[in-house]
Amino acid sequence: MFEYSITYVKKLTNSKGASLRGHCDVKPFRLSAELLIDYYSKGNDGLIAHEVEHYIQHLKTLTMLPFLYKLSKKFRLWAEIAAYKKQLEYSTDKEEDEFEFAVYLSRCYDLDISSLDAYNILTG
Ligand SMILES: [Zn+2]
Repeated sequence: MFEYSITYVKKLTNSKGASLRGHCDVKPFRLSAELLIDYYSKGNDGLIAHEVEHYIQHLKTLTMLPFLYKLSKKFRLWAEIAAYKKQLEYSTDKEEDEFEFAVYLSRCYDLDISSLDAYNILTG
């Protein structure tokens, strides 16, 4: 089935223990997704739109998102830029969020890009 559910989690971390605000939990060959959202980010529609965008990417890649995301920095950059662009559509302070997301992109995804490069890609 094409469907996703949203689960609010009190302490959301990645495999390395770093805290996360949202995560799109998908599996290869599975069409459904569970969007995990930090409990304190409840009501953050932009964050949910970001994770829904990853779900759409999962469907567009014929459920290969987990492999592509893990194996290719180029794919990961493309996926996160698209998700943050979607999130910016819900922003109430676009300029500030563009800077903040650029910093996340340069620091949190092992992409080997500077904040400035991330900012230029995000806003370009
Ligand atoms: Zn993302």
